[in-house]
Amino acid sequence: MPNVLLHICCGPCSITTLRTLLAEGHEVTGLFYNPNIHPLTEYVKRRDGCLAVAERLGVKVIVKDDEYRPQEWFRAVAHRENNRCFHCYAMRLERTTQIARRGNFDGFTTTLLYSKYQKHDEIAALGRDLESAKTRFLYRDFRAGWQEGIDVSKEWGVYRQQYCGCLYSENERYKRELMSRP
Ligand code: SF4
Repeated sequence: MPNVLLHICCGPCSITTLRTLLAEGHEVTGLFYNPNIHPLTEYVKRRDGCLAVAERLGVKVIVKDDEYRPQEWFRAVAHRENNRCFHCYAMRLERTTQIARRGNFDGFTTTLLYSKYQKHDEIAALGRDLESAKTRFLYRDFRAGWQEGIDVSKEWGVYRQQYCGCLYSENERYKRELMSRP
């Protein structure tokens, strides 16, 4: 599969993923499309981390700042908050496959398959559902390179986020703050 579109969620997750795909001989283009990252200032930090890694590795990235519309993301998960990650993955992977098909990519995949904190099997199943004969889903279990991604991102000074992305995950990450008033 020579020509692959890689959906990228942030800088640290892209390191091992890009290195693996490049080592396998793929021609890789990144795609930064993540309306699930809140607030906007956090989105910018992760986008810039992604671009810094891509520049080091000589990879071009399509950046969809013009499609950063958290309102649409909130509408997609409204009243389905308990299953929000599925809808969040679907929104991002559906857009990835559209861009991959229109751009004549042979395949697509995502850095979401690198994270130990994501629902790996759900992401893989979605990727398989969304593939077509022309644009295949390139499944890899990138989690094997988990520690390498952490170590290299620290060494390179790439921005490392403290929560998954959405306002809900930020609340879960910091909920103890509510208990800590004097
Ligand atoms: S926790 Fe992460 S994957 Fe789940 S909905 Fe929020 S941003 Fe998306």
